[in-house]
Amino acid sequence: MRIAIVGGGITGLSAAWELQQRGIEFTLLEASDRWGGKVISSNLELNNGAHFLVEGGPDTLITRKPEAWDLTNELGMLDQITNPGSETSGTYVLDHASLYPIPVSPSRFFSTPLLTLRGKLRMLAEPFQPARRDDEDESLANFVRRRLGQEALDKFIGPVLGGIYNTDPETQSIMVSSPVMREMEKDGGGLVAGALKRMLRSGKKKNKAPRFVSFKNGLQALTDELARQLKGDLRLNARVEKITQDGNGYQIFITDGSTVCADGVILTTLANQTSAMIKDISAEASQQLSTIRHQNIGTLSVVYLESDIPKEPVISGLMIPRREKRMIDAVTFTSRKMPERSTAGYAVLRIFIGGGAPEMVEFSDDKLIEAVQKELAELLGITAAPQTWTAFRWQSGFPQAEVGHLNRVDEIEKLLPPNLALAGSSYRGIAVPDCIRQGREAARKFAK
Ligand SMILES: Cc1cc2nc3c(=O)[nH]c(=O)nc-3n(C[C@H](O)[C@H](O)[C@H](O)COP(=O)(O)OP(=O)(O)OC[C@H]3O[C@@H](n4cnc5c(N)ncnc54)[C@H](O)[C@@H]3O)c2cc1C
Repeated sequence: MRIAIVGGGITGLSAAWELQQRGIEFTLLEASDRWGGKVISSNLELNNGAHFLVEGGPDTLITRKPEAWDLTNELGMLDQITNPGSETSGTYVLDHASLYPIPVSPSRFFSTPLLTLRGKLRMLAEPFQPARRDDEDESLANFVRRRLGQEALDKFIGPVLGGIYNTDPETQSIMVSSPVMREMEKDGGGLVAGALKRMLRSGKKKNKAPRFVSFKNGLQALTDELARQLKGDLRLNARVEKITQDGNGYQIFITDGSTVCADGVILTTLANQTSAMIKDISAEASQQLSTIRHQNIGTLSVVYLESDIPKEPVISGLMIPRREKRMIDAVTFTSRKMPERSTAGYAVLRIFIGGGAPEMVEFSDDKLIEAVQKELAELLGITAAPQTWTAFRWQSGFPQAEVGHLNRVDEIEKLLPPNLALAGSSYRGIAVPDCIRQGREAARKFAK
């Protein structure tokens, strides 16, 4: 048996790794000239030798989903893992053009002017709200409104989760973005009780991994090592155009005119890319795939002299809700979050674009940096020119899992012939551990 895998991001590489463990032959086809897809780390250097490690896509992995940790262990790379600390400490939110720290501690919560007294009391009443125990999907916004109230949604939970998922919480599926919150409600009757139950359970576990992890040399170390340890037929610059059924197997047509024959195919490309490839196999599945929305997304890593950054406020991140109508979606002070990736005397900021102002991803370099500098000046008082910068952009590259998404994916899969599997960020979770899980699960289907 030979399996073709389309797409050499973390999902495709993980599928290949699982097939290799099971002794199944594979051909991995990647359109670009590098492995890793959105997992991309890069080094910036100044003439004076100052250097900076930056990430274009993901920079931290959550260990509550164990797949990335397990894969790192299998690859023998646990010694390369670093602990970047908590995602929310020192994070601010923009509200009516002013910055407020996200109230993560009890004292901050009681003193913050971000929420009214009424909003705070509504949040504190969370344990007394009726619990929903079914498995029906709902929007992230609806969930937060039910449990914590409208203010919590508007003022910080919406901006934080909407920012992480580059999405509108009113349409985002809770079952894809934060199923753990619904599990806590189902299991414990509410978020507070559910969280306490989980803490008690995890307190009993020995050798706990940090909540978030990264890699000393950047996340690309993981995909580079995966590609290095794979022994199958690995092809870069191999853009798949279409796939047809050929007896019991499949023929895969590559844009350079070559073809690959396989007994099964794992498609790890985004739904909007996969849609065009499988038109001849199932016009209906192809049409359904094209209805999954994908948003523009991009990041810029911008280096400043530390002395050019205003002393106050000392922030590690800023989340910007869409209602503020800014050109950027979020800012992370990478050099504060991960100082080991920077050189002393410099500040590195990572700016997220493409959500509130999708057109930013299509701007030329000059226009893009000009727009970003204007935003940083108005929001954070940074008026100096950057020392250097780099940008990563993905047009229609970020899947939007809307309410009912998982049912829709189930329906699409029913339309596909046997031995044709879908996996990756457009389907059952967008985070890197979700992608690893989906890639490996798709591969396991061929081991039966
Ligand atoms: C800015 C940003 C920040 C993120 N931050 C985090 C984070 O901190 N933590 C986290 O867990 N997740 C994060 N994510 C999500 C995560 O990085 C992605 O969901 C994940 O990397 C997607 O992997 P993938 O392999 O499914 O898809 P991709 O990485 O998109 O890979 C698909 C591959 O298919 C190739 N391809 C496309 N068309 C063809 C074709 N016709 N033929 C052959 N190959 C083709 C592409 O070139 C690409 O290499 C982030 C994503 C972004 C964009």
